[in-house]
Amino acid sequence: MKEYKIAVLPGDGIGPEIVPEAIKVLDKVGEMYGLSFSYEEGYIGGAAIDAVGEPLPQETLDLCKKSDAILLGAVGGPKWDNLPVEKRPEAGALLPLRKALGLYANIRPSVVYEELADASTLKKEVVLGTDLLTIRELTGGIYFGAKYRSEDERGSFAVDENKYYVDEIERICRLAFKIARTRGNKVTSVDKANVLETSRLWRETVVALHDKEFKDVELEHLYVDNAAMQLILRPTSFDVMVTENMFGDILTDQASVMTGSIGMLGSASIGGEVALYEPAHGSAPDIAGQGKANPLATILSVAMMLKYSFEELKAAARIEAAVKKVLASGYRTPDIMEEGKTLVSTSEVGDLVVKAL
Ligand code: NAD
Repeated sequence: MKEYKIAVLPGDGIGPEIVPEAIKVLDKVGEMYGLSFSYEEGYIGGAAIDAVGEPLPQETLDLCKKSDAILLGAVGGPKWDNLPVEKRPEAGALLPLRKALGLYANIRPSVVYEELADASTLKKEVVLGTDLLTIRELTGGIYFGAKYRSEDERGSFAVDENKYYVDEIERICRLAFKIARTRGNKVTSVDKANVLETSRLWRETVVALHDKEFKDVELEHLYVDNAAMQLILRPTSFDVMVTENMFGDILTDQASVMTGSIGMLGSASIGGEVALYEPAHGSAPDIAGQGKANPLATILSVAMMLKYSFEELKAAARIEAAVKKVLASGYRTPDIMEEGKTLVSTSEVGDLVVKAL
């Protein structure tokens, strides 16, 4: 039996409600596929501030480093909003965690489920069939470049430096090509090569890598402004989209709302040694503690864990199929509720997915 050690960081708000549902599901697929999971919990975010006075305790970081994968709920909430920025749950925990673990790629699927297609802001006939994976570079570019303010004869100004090394571009694009080979075999690389030097280097690098190692994968290039348009014009034509940090930040949010509910989207942040899995949404303090949270994003995040960290593709596909089955049977949390469907609580959804497995 294969054994995996998982660091569990429930965090704040609905985090402690949705994470146990994903663990229920993981345990069930473990039983079915001969996998054994052990869990160790750590404090993060506001919960860590309350317990030990800082958002990312060293103990939590050590726990993450010795684990095979990390399952995170969400962090943040009004209780901690007035603390100085570096002490706040998001800036004080998530960014340093990603940095310390070298998580250089953020992978976000945008899947439109047939049963929920009416919840999208786009027309059903446009979005139905969308199954896009956006891969965003997470540790380079303008968010991490030098930032400063200064003055010259014209007046005050501000600078944010955008810098990319060839090896950073190769690393993220290689991941995109490899993942594309396991899916639709197509990569759309997004840049602004008509204006930016970093984008010209991006495009040269992706073309060279494609020629050298991935000739079998279809490669398309889009300027970021056009990509934003094409995403809502022809979302079903995309398979894997790869892009730099800031473009990815914006496009992943656009791609996520197309699907209807943020409560349905998982995400993975992949690095060298260990990867982190979390729902794409936040801690939803407005509904915390009421059994209203949709746990499917977290459940789909553990399917991503099985796929990307453990290469247990069958177990991952089984979870995805079970989620579809629960939706097809008409069960809904309030965020995706429609007339004629059956309203269920957070833990009921977890039980239903386990049953569907
Ligand atoms: P949010 O994603 O928490 O909530 C936005 C809206 O979506 C709310 O109405 C919420 O009820 C709803 N929602 C979110 N997840 C849901 C789910 N699983 N089921 C049903 N409804 C769901 O974003 P926000 O309100 O902007 O932020 C709330 C807190 O979360 C803030 O402190 C923010 O900084 C933090 N946050 C954390 C992360 C993270 O941990 N990665 C990400 C984004 C925001």
